[in-house]
Amino acid sequence: MRKLFVAGNWKMFTTLSSARQLAQGIVDGFGENEKVLVGVFPPFPYLLAVAEIVRGKTIVLGGQNLYPAAEGAFTGEVSPTMLLDCGCQYVILGHSERRHKIGESDAFINQKVHTALNAGLKVIFCIGEKLEERDAQKTNQVLERQLTTGLAGLTQEQVASVVIAYEPVWAIGTGKNATPEEAEQAHTFIRGQIGQMFGSANAESVVIQYGGSVNPNNAESLLAQPNVDGVLVGGASLKVDQFSAIIEAGMRVASAS
Ligand code: PEP
Repeated sequence: MRKLFVAGNWKMFTTLSSARQLAQGIVDGFGENEKVLVGVFPPFPYLLAVAEIVRGKTIVLGGQNLYPAAEGAFTGEVSPTMLLDCGCQYVILGHSERRHKIGESDAFINQKVHTALNAGLKVIFCIGEKLEERDAQKTNQVLERQLTTGLAGLTQEQVASVVIAYEPVWAIGTGKNATPEEAEQAHTFIRGQIGQMFGSANAESVVIQYGGSVNPNNAESLLAQPNVDGVLVGGASLKVDQFSAIIEAGMRVASAS
């Protein structure tokens, strides 16, 4: 039985004070909840402050990126050990903003995935097609490429520490989400690919989140899909009331199943 995972990607938003308030609001509402896994991904400078607030609670902490080396002369970068040191259990890799705005390649993301897992971090590995790729009926082709190159060389055991986030690029920050049916279709395809690459037990257990304009109004119908095991939330994760409503939607879906 897969546990629903609701994660908030704060991107390059918040201040020290608003990050603390946001984390405290989530802890006050869900710090003891066991039904849904809740995760927060603050900007690097606020990780330690948020770590203090979520420590001992059921909320997990993660970084939004890392550099694929243990340490070294990489000005401006952050290592997996640093994330672990700050209390992170997770890291987001392959986010479309890093793929398409910063120019990260599948091969570079694959290096990061290996580095993170070898260091003991769990990974939220993001994949998703652009609008023109969907319009050209290339969604499955893109997802297959991103999975085969991004997860290349992982063992069956390592894949157990990977969460996949299906985030169609056209739905991120646009207010235009995939329909529950579109999400379910893509998630079913992704689960099938994981089965081919890493065996049926991994296909059955891998958590696949949907991301892209998730909000309190659409979260429940997305989460109710059999192959949607959680959501990765950007904009709506920055407001305690909106993020809380999304977690509550997850709790209702978890109770009903
Ligand atoms: C994201 O950043 O992963 C995301 C899905 O953003 P938004 O919810 O704002 O579309």
